[in-house]
Amino acid sequence: MAQRATNSGAGAAAAADGAPAPDAPFVDERAARSALDATVQHVWGYSSLRPLQAEAMVASLQGRDALVVLATGGGKSLCYQAPALLKQGVTAVISPLISLMKDQIDGLRESGVAAAMLTSAQSPEERRAVRQQLRAGELKLLYAAPERLVLDGFIDELLGAGLAALVVDEAHCISHWGHDFRPEYRQLGQLRRDHPTIPIQAFTATATPSVRADIVKQLGLREPALLVGSCDRPNLTYRFQPRGELLAQTLAAIRRHPQQAGIIYAIRRRDVEQLAAALQREGVKALPYHAGLEAQERHRNQEQFLNEEIDVVVATVAFGMGIDRADVRFVVHAALPKGIEQYMQESGRAGRDGLPAECVMLWSAADWHSWKNLLERSARETEGDAAVEARAAAPTDDDLAEAIRRIGAMLSFASGAVCRHRYLVEHFGETWSNESASPADGGCGACDVCLGELAALPDATVVAQKILSCVVRCQERFGATHIADVLRGADSERMRQYGHDALTTFGLLKEQSNREIRHCIDQLVAQQCLAVAEGDYPTLGVTPFGREVLRGQRPIALFALPKLAKTAKGRSSLARLAADDTALPVDDALFEQLRALRRELAHTRGVPPYVIFNDRTLAELASRKPKTPEEFRACKGVGDKKAADLGPAFLAAIASS
Ligand code: ADP
Ligand code: ZN
Repeated sequence: MAQRATNSGAGAAAAADGAPAPDAPFVDERAARSALDATVQHVWGYSSLRPLQAEAMVASLQGRDALVVLATGGGKSLCYQAPALLKQGVTAVISPLISLMKDQIDGLRESGVAAAMLTSAQSPEERRAVRQQLRAGELKLLYAAPERLVLDGFIDELLGAGLAALVVDEAHCISHWGHDFRPEYRQLGQLRRDHPTIPIQAFTATATPSVRADIVKQLGLREPALLVGSCDRPNLTYRFQPRGELLAQTLAAIRRHPQQAGIIYAIRRRDVEQLAAALQREGVKALPYHAGLEAQERHRNQEQFLNEEIDVVVATVAFGMGIDRADVRFVVHAALPKGIEQYMQESGRAGRDGLPAECVMLWSAADWHSWKNLLERSARETEGDAAVEARAAAPTDDDLAEAIRRIGAMLSFASGAVCRHRYLVEHFGETWSNESASPADGGCGACDVCLGELAALPDATVVAQKILSCVVRCQERFGATHIADVLRGADSERMRQYGHDALTTFGLLKEQSNREIRHCIDQLVAQQCLAVAEGDYPTLGVTPFGREVLRGQRPIALFALPKLAKTAKGRSSLARLAADDTALPVDDALFEQLRALRRELAHTRGVPPYVIFNDRTLAELASRKPKTPEEFRACKGVGDKKAADLGPAFLAAIASS
């Protein structure tokens, strides 16, 4: 059935190394692994595989269905790319976004792999050329959107070219329970029914057990290899702060990462526009990115970010998926994301290259209401601003309540003071183990809670009791704003109207600011001492746990508002970050020189810079300072083709430094 595919240069290199020929059956795991090691070494220049990569690749070579869940930056692409080179025929990859496909293909081609995509953004001529390559058996990997795969005749075209396997990337998009449901993905289920013998491998970064089960069901996977890695991202440091002065707090985060890439998420387009403009006035190279921009401008902004011409993109949370760069060193949420899954996904765009990165969340309880309004509006409207931005969270009216509940969960996560790494890991059904974390006190060493950056309120239990008691005296019929007003003794008509200026709790916390009291209330909600009831407007009630605190049967911890970090404490050069795990001294000046060379080469080749080499490889070059082609080839991330193509330019730059 399958016509013999032309071997790519990469596959030939692996075979020449004594590994089995590409069309030999890979039933033997040892043979499969040695062929894979050789391919990964030759093509990508990596000397070892990351956790679960080998298992996923072996399953692929054995023609098994698989569901692979690896955290962002875990190296999912390699799991299907390396085996594709060792298989006869072409591997089709389903991906939701053209920009993501383009990045992958640029990277593969730089490494000498025959890869292409078929998308609606290409001209008919370009598409014809790709089809021609496909028919001629010249492609090892073909990327396409799900809607193309189910087009009449396309699957037959693939079968004619010897379809080896189907890869479904971002597979959570198939599930209603996930955070980014895409109706087009649903049609993929039909493929398995029509073509039961084609192996399907699904990949995703974050999937709760229910999403996982749904992926298996929707795709009709048969006895799939279930490979689930930890979703923890140890290279990310999380810092959550109540939002006070948005611009100052955002700038503080940006200044901790000078000349480094960052993404800032906001809820609405107008927030995005305003923040981007304000940052520009402060001299930050920042541009906006949201669904309301003209396609051309949006594309231009995205390209400038990918090409390292600007450092910062301000984006709407629902629309930031296309702005992906592996060397994003910080992600700031200027407002709450729509849910914990979304937070994982969005914050996860930081540090995809595995180097340290920071995730800052500036939250406010008011964000919950902003989202709620936006979602309710989008459920009513089918067109317009709100509908477009919020679509992913509220695909139908039925999901509205669930979507609002998820935002509530996000708020209690943000305002709580549990280790951020631990909370996220447990949320996704894993048991937290801090084996990889160093601190003796059992903390993760990479969040504001464990780093001791949150100052404990000295008399937390007393403050909590004052708040809880005030809620009881207001008969659990008022919201947080009103309760805070009573406690700080506000001189207002509203207080007199309800007679609340006569309560014993009136003015009980008058030495504290409104923000401080609100911060404590939010924490009590997060710790489930208080519950928010939804009526016409949200009201606070005391839970059974809260009553125990009130009676003094339970102590409680609360945190003071964090101080604004004014200095760029903890800031370090990109070169040093990138070189961290090599323990070699790195030449900062040379690193920057190589970075400039990379930008230049990327520009002439029309690809994003990180596709040439990532920062880690640059740091290694800047510390080892190779003098010969052999020394150059031995650096991590330098494969055969890159050594040949890029060696002369980089060796010359290093020699003249
Ligand atoms: P994911 O899709 O899971 O987010 P990627 O496939 O983009 O992750 O990989 C993240 C980064 O890690 C890329 O720069 C990739 O080249 C690199 N990488 C993947 N596997 C390895 C490996 N075995 N050794 C070193 N680097 C790797
Ligand atoms: Zn922690």
